Amino acid sequence: MANGSVRVRFCPSPTGNPHVGLVRTALFNWAYARHTGGTFVFRIEDTDAARDSEESYEQLLDSLRWLGFTWDEGPEVGGPHAPYRQSQRMETYKEVAEKLKDAGHAYSCYCTASELEERRDAARAAGRPSGYDGKCREVTPEQKAQYEAEGREPIVRFRMPDETITFTDLVRGELTFTPENVPDYGIVRANGAPLYTLVNPVDDALMEITHVLRGEDLLSSTPRQIALYKALIELGIAKEVPSFGHLPYVMGEGNKKLSKRDPQSSLNLYRECGFLPEGLLNYLSLLGWSLSADQDIFTIEEMVAAFDVADVNPNPARFDLKKAEAINADHIRLLDVKEFTERCAPWLRAPFAPWAPEDFDEAKWEAIAPHAQTRLKVLSEITENVDFLFLPEPAEDEASWAKAMKEGSDALLRTAREKLESADWTSAESLKEAVLAAGEAHGLKLGKAQAPVRVAVTGRTVGLPLFESLEILGKEKTLARIDAALAKLAA
Ligand code: GLU
Ligand code: ZN
Repeated sequence: MANGSVRVRFCPSPTGNPHVGLVRTALFNWAYARHTGGTFVFRIEDTDAARDSEESYEQLLDSLRWLGFTWDEGPEVGGPHAPYRQSQRMETYKEVAEKLKDAGHAYSCYCTASELEERRDAARAAGRPSGYDGKCREVTPEQKAQYEAEGREPIVRFRMPDETITFTDLVRGELTFTPENVPDYGIVRANGAPLYTLVNPVDDALMEITHVLRGEDLLSSTPRQIALYKALIELGIAKEVPSFGHLPYVMGEGNKKLSKRDPQSSLNLYRECGFLPEGLLNYLSLLGWSLSADQDIFTIEEMVAAFDVADVNPNPARFDLKKAEAINADHIRLLDVKEFTERCAPWLRAPFAPWAPEDFDEAKWEAIAPHAQTRLKVLSEITENVDFLFLPEPAEDEASWAKAMKEGSDALLRTAREKLESADWTSAESLKEAVLAAGEAHGLKLGKAQAPVRVAVTGRTVGLPLFESLEILGKEKTLARIDAALAKLAA
């Protein structure tokens, strides 16, 4: 395919929250468009009025923007094939359905649901293929009149050609479907509403899509779409059948397919807990693709430079939250400090921050930020890590207290207080020496000696580097907190 001629599309239905599988599909399409200098078309498949919502539509746009995807054609940006919301293209589908019927590629099917079910059951029992049996392919005018007199409302069915369909999947190689496995299928409901089976390939044809990259779950619709495409070509509506590439399933817990309903699959979850878009995209790109065997961390630009659908692995990919977090952590480290402090901003104010806004101290935040940057997996962890600087008292955490405050902790804290009192408070090293010396006086290694100090001052057993934290909090507050801890121990 020559540069510039690739046209891919991302065409979600606005039902519910965007999920990670959807994002992976968007990413691979977008990356392929950018890699080839092609066009990324964003289309909204909102023909299912019962399930689609305006709220989901807004969320989709917002999510794509947050992820940093730009689309060349689509909602809000327009383009030569506008509109890009299927709910605004109903006339087109109606016309195409008529043309298909007129040319004999589709027909009215008058079978009722219960008749279909009955024949399906009978076919199953007889060991025959259980798809639609083609009963209404030839309906005489008398039968038609009879059906209509009975008040039957027909659906429109596409007539599958009686031939084997073979195509070369960009990911899976050559695939073959025999006619008995691909029966005639509905394209328009009895109420006149066009179905996904029609509108999706019709729009792909009209929007001149060259490559259809989508989830493996849609593989079974591909032979039908190819047949429909061929009919559209005959009618002069489509130019050529696009190439198809089916992206591997994403597996969740217990090696089950990650479903849209799995809480783990919700994009918002990752956004809210402070994944960076670049970290999440890096991780999602690994669900079926890799830059190289020994490089897991890369920028989106590096991905775009290297991405080719031909390299996508057809095997199911496993979604591994730990790995996603580790990759995100690496991307947090890659930010420059200023960028890092800015990205943390949402978690430093309500509703996440437990401190009063006026107690937030910009200078202290800037001092602690570089230490936090090397430790976070997700940005939301920032709040707990720095709250000791802005809360009047350290956070209360009974488990931490119980773990750190042992027999003899009071004696150690008293010595530590003494040594800290005379330490150099412009040097974290000096504060460390003070606690080290206090530990030595009580026969404790640094790790054991610093635990009660950490809990007294920050409230928790784990946190940012302790001596830098003490230095930034300041002498007065540190000593006051040690005194408060001593009082609590004495009580
Ligand atoms: N609207 C369809 C979906 O979200 C698009 C499928 C496709 O990419 O063909 O499942
Ligand atoms: Zn029928």
